[in-house]
Amino acid sequence: MTDNSRHNASRRTFLQTSAAGLAAAGLTSRAFAQAQEQEKEQDAATAGAQAGGKKIGYAVMGLGQLGMGQILPAFKNCKYSRVTALVSGKPDKARAEAEKYGVDPKNIYNYDNFDKIKDNGQVDVVYVVLPNNMHADFVVRAAQAGKHVLCEKPFDVTVEKCQQAIDACKKHNRKLQIGYRLMYEPNNLRLVEAVAKKEIGEPKILECGAGFSIGDPNQWRLKMDMAGGGCLMDIGVYALSAARYITREEPTEVTAFTFANRQDPRFKEVEEHCNFDLRFPSGVLASCTSSYSCGLNRFRAIGTRGWAECEPALSYRGVKFRKSGRGGQVDEPDLGDPDQFATEMDALAQCILENKEPKASGEQGLRDVKIMLAIYEAAKTGKTIKL
Ligand code: NAD
Repeated sequence: MTDNSRHNASRRTFLQTSAAGLAAAGLTSRAFAQAQEQEKEQDAATAGAQAGGKKIGYAVMGLGQLGMGQILPAFKNCKYSRVTALVSGKPDKARAEAEKYGVDPKNIYNYDNFDKIKDNGQVDVVYVVLPNNMHADFVVRAAQAGKHVLCEKPFDVTVEKCQQAIDACKKHNRKLQIGYRLMYEPNNLRLVEAVAKKEIGEPKILECGAGFSIGDPNQWRLKMDMAGGGCLMDIGVYALSAARYITREEPTEVTAFTFANRQDPRFKEVEEHCNFDLRFPSGVLASCTSSYSCGLNRFRAIGTRGWAECEPALSYRGVKFRKSGRGGQVDEPDLGDPDQFATEMDALAQCILENKEPKASGEQGLRDVKIMLAIYEAAKTGKTIKL
């Protein structure tokens, strides 16, 4: 079995399991048939582009934990994307990774000569996987070099820089997607659908938690200038983003508390915990928690007739949707567990091949940065901030 046919087979299995899951979840046969039809059309369009021999070439910029641990290995699970270049400040590391993933050593760049990538026809997209405060600058440089961009979350640490990056991509007519992998993850999508279809009655309350225990006190994530904040910027952004995509509304007000144990060497500069509450126009209230010292990994929506949740909600693998059923029973359909990085990279590749706008757009990323800055202001002033 070739890599491609193996992939197609696993995609088929996924479609079958998700079909069973959606059916089990009570989607009407008409809605289900429509969804299947849509997906077939999408596949046919992309297959056409592929038949033209086009697989989107990615340059991965930043060979750290995420770049080497998740993104490079994900290309083997991609249908429309392949890695064709690397950008790194460490030539030895870059050469070793290039050899491992079959990247031509001529396609290795560093942060100084990066702009030369404009002459490289094998690169369509630059995937920016650097510390937060470096994102927007490299999005701008990538767009100026004529490349589309996938930029890791959070978009950047200031509204101005995010806006500059959006403007540069517009000016150079390049696509920009933010690395919100959960916006493409089937269990999270099912949670969005369950709320939209009022399967839990009228949605009233959201509880979104995202957190982990952070290690090395010397890492950039704990430096205010590079990270732009603490747990909120890094992991709490998932809780915020989820509250927005689950309600499909924009919050109008926010209140917040932060806490940092300043005796702990990890939290000299940034917050350890950040709890925030969001008010949405429909009346839904979201209670969100983020932490750098506790594990939090659940998005739950509670309505007048039940609840629906993902737990784990944001792990790289094994995300699980479940929903309260009749008579106290809990439904837990198998919706599949695809490689989230392959899915998000292929989603951008499809947008490029079909000239569509990415769902996880730069505007979505900018909106979250604006709200996070308002959350910090609410925590600092003790006031409710209107958005
Ligand atoms: P990391 O520290 O492991 O890697 C960062 C990379 O940037 C390293 O290769 C480092 O050499 C390079 N770099 C270049 N200039 C640097 C400088 N001046 N200081 C420090 N490093 C520099 O970080 P990571 O965990 O790979 O995170 C990178 C980005 O990816 C962050 O924005 C983070 O928020 C995001 N991220 C997203 C997810 C996700 O699930 N989508 C998961 C982890 C990280």
